[in-house]
Amino acid sequence: RDLPGDPVPGGGPREVAGAMYSLVAPTPVTAPRLLAHSAELARALGWSEADLRDPAFAQVFGGNALLDGMRPWAANYGGHQFGVWAGQLGDGRAISLGEAVAADGARWELQLKGAGPTPYSRGADGRAVLRSSIREFLCSEAMHHLGVPTTRALCLVATGEAVVRDMFYDGHPREEPGAIVCRASPSFVRFGSFELPASRGETGLLRRLADFTIRRDFPHLAGAGESLYGDWFAEVCERTARLMAEWMRVGFVHGVMNTDNMSILGLTLDYGPYGWIDDYDPDWTPNTTDAVRRRYRYGQQPNVAWWNLSRLAGALAPLFGGTEVLQAGLDRYAVAYAEADRAATAAKLGLAECRDDDLGLMRSLQVAMRDGAMDMTLTFRALSDADAGALSPDLFGEAFYDGARRRAVEPTLHDWLRRYAARLADDPLPPAQRRARMRAANPRYVLRNYLAQEAIDRAERGDAGGIAELLDVMRHPCDDQPGRERYARRRPGWARDRPGCSMLSCSS
Ligand code: AMP
Ligand code: MG
Ligand code: MG
Repeated sequence: RDLPGDPVPGGGPREVAGAMYSLVAPTPVTAPRLLAHSAELARALGWSEADLRDPAFAQVFGGNALLDGMRPWAANYGGHQFGVWAGQLGDGRAISLGEAVAADGARWELQLKGAGPTPYSRGADGRAVLRSSIREFLCSEAMHHLGVPTTRALCLVATGEAVVRDMFYDGHPREEPGAIVCRASPSFVRFGSFELPASRGETGLLRRLADFTIRRDFPHLAGAGESLYGDWFAEVCERTARLMAEWMRVGFVHGVMNTDNMSILGLTLDYGPYGWIDDYDPDWTPNTTDAVRRRYRYGQQPNVAWWNLSRLAGALAPLFGGTEVLQAGLDRYAVAYAEADRAATAAKLGLAECRDDDLGLMRSLQVAMRDGAMDMTLTFRALSDADAGALSPDLFGEAFYDGARRRAVEPTLHDWLRRYAARLADDPLPPAQRRARMRAANPRYVLRNYLAQEAIDRAERGDAGGIAELLDVMRHPCDDQPGRERYARRRPGWARDRPGCSMLSCSS
């Protein structure tokens, strides 16, 4: 179907009061071309490989045409950005096309990111550059395959049009190729979706959004009666807690944990200047705009999530008689996080269960990894593959980034491995089971920033092949993949300070 003539009915950027969304159509692009897709998701939604190759597919997912039944919209929401209330934000460059129901009955909202302006664009262009679109596409799918709750990505389409951005290395505007990612999720509702009507005193609208969200996305809570809202908030807290434990398990740093980027379903949402821990450092953040305060650093993420949930609690307060129930939900967060952290600790160390002392054992290893500048992924993977009868610091050989720090930390590692061996001797898991448990919890392949950057460099030179190759590796992150060892190495020296390979800006 053709698009309506006026993409943003009612004019340009504006405050939208009393509504959670605005109808808006994508703005057509010159030459949409499919660069990559998720085969699993496309299949689940009923598209064959031939359908994907049909130019009509790129027309729809490049924003040039609609399928029957699509009635696109952009969502309205607010948010706390870096701790400060920012007022109305909304989908400034995201346009949802509609919902698709998969063969298994799952419902997926399909959303184009970078498809042109909306009433929420606030003077920006509504577009996205190729590099950030590749990063969002790849990481959505990599996280899914790691078993971390996340929004998905159906496909990546080049627009054939240039986008102008202030580049982070020299501050000068630069033309870059544009692209559109089609994201997919059961819901893109955020904490900020509730904060906005609450901030305006629109309690009726706030209640309608809560009721809609519960009915559509938390159907198992129907019948909770009096305790419905309280049960729902507690579940949001629990899901968020489990998500944080998962990010910590795999070494993922979101980079911009503003409340508008927090999913009500506890999914990883909005892949911007995210990054992966290479040499272990709880104070690391990939986001250059946060390099001084480091509000969203790796080790801080579980605390920030709690702070964000407190903002959500504040927004939902008008739906509750008092604050006790909301406080109880926030308390659930702490308990659920502690439980999930213990489960991850046991799995990563290969223990049948996590005893209190095991938390200390894990902390000691983390201190050694930091002091010794050891690669987090390689350290845990080496431990997973080690023979419990022959533990020596040499098994971490591939994980060290710095010879002097290696030598300095070796005695500590030696002691730590003695403690660990004693603990294993007191654990009932047979070696084969222990190894399987550890290998499932400690990925061999993660989407290291420099690997994504290599795929981006190739794509910017006109060869999109690196995207599919990298995605294929990330499809089985916990398997050994013979011939693909180069994707499992520590970050090379050249990548340490190169923009895109470690630090990133929000400019995207
Ligand atoms: P983010 O930091 O990516 O979560 O974005 C924060 C807000 O800025 C959201 O409301 C986005 O929709 C909006 N935004 C970011 N980039 C653009 C852009 N190029 N055009 C319009 N809106 C944008
Ligand atoms: Mg966002
Ligand atoms: Mg973003």
